[in-house]
Amino acid sequence: MIPVSEPFLSGKELEYVTDCIKTNWISSIGKYVRNFEDVFARFCGTSCAVSASSGTAALHLALLALDIKAGDEVIMPDLTFVASANAVLYCGARPVFVDVDEKTWNIDPEKIEACITERSRAIMVVHLYGHPCDMDAVMKIAERHNLKVIEDAAQAHGAEYGKKRVGSIGDAGVFSFYGNKLITTGEGGMITTDSPDIAEKARLLRDHAMSKTRRYWHDLPGYNYRLTNIQAAIGVAQMEQADDFIGIKRRNAALYNSLLRDMDGITLPPEADRCKNVYWMYSILIEDDFGLSRDEVMARLKDMGIDTRPFFYPLHRLPMYSSDAEYPVADELSRKGINLPSSTKLTDSDIKTVCAAIASVRDKNR
Ligand SMILES: *Cc1c(COP(=O)(O)O)cnc(C)c1O
Repeated sequence: MIPVSEPFLSGKELEYVTDCIKTNWISSIGKYVRNFEDVFARFCGTSCAVSASSGTAALHLALLALDIKAGDEVIMPDLTFVASANAVLYCGARPVFVDVDEKTWNIDPEKIEACITERSRAIMVVHLYGHPCDMDAVMKIAERHNLKVIEDAAQAHGAEYGKKRVGSIGDAGVFSFYGNKLITTGEGGMITTDSPDIAEKARLLRDHAMSKTRRYWHDLPGYNYRLTNIQAAIGVAQMEQADDFIGIKRRNAALYNSLLRDMDGITLPPEADRCKNVYWMYSILIEDDFGLSRDEVMARLKDMGIDTRPFFYPLHRLPMYSSDAEYPVADELSRKGINLPSSTKLTDSDIKTVCAAIASVRDKNR
């Protein structure tokens, strides 16, 4: 089976983890935690980075640090992983969904302003599958309406918008290091920001909101959202390879693009002007003139030993977020989209096998 994704632990992961165990620093205090944060801040081009136990925890902390609370509304795309919206719910706030753009698959800036109310406090963009959002347009709207901007960059480590890396453009960026993400620590997350205040508040809440000057004194109900030194050790080793991983992802995408470009019925993934897509998941759309539905294509590929994933369900289709509003673009992308094998471990021969399989599935049906 050619998997959609697998971790690539090809560097000093074992050496650094062994160091944690030999020196007894296995919990959330230790040199790797701070080192990972420093390296990650430099990677993104922000002055601060705060690690967390998961991407979801990092999202929750970022929202809390931006003072999102009960009664507030946070505007976000309808097409994303569910954790983006859940984190808003954890704050007692309400996620408000906006349809996505059919070209970039990300939040459609032209549809944001219609969703702004007097309760709106923030816009959470999501750089879906590794492609940056139209941040100039989003930042302009946010400025005009005095809204905060959170970038959910959990799928887009190292992606670039203009001269900036994602996670360094809004008030705060959030990353995940789950096993299938571009950089992994098994489980883990990070908040990036240029605001020492946001970083400080996130650090406080991450660690039970314990007073720095008075042990076991707590002004707020905090959380235990800490990353361990062992996880951070893996993260430091992964960061030594981050630029290589991005290079591999982009080379793999270029090969996929060249092999799929002339196939009717397939739409290739976007790369907008001034954007660098890191192709976390190399994704295509199976159009209606392909001859088979997306689900049929996935089933046949599976029989041929090729693992794929469908796009996310639009959030407004999930029971806890169900709404009568219409999101035609998110619905259509969700119906047509497939994530193809995207691991950094893929060989050129794997990619050729996948593309040949797609061609044969299509030809057999003509
Ligand atoms: C993976 C992901 C998350 C959550 O990260 P975890 O580390 O799994 O908690 C949040 N948002 C998006 C867009 C993601 O892809």
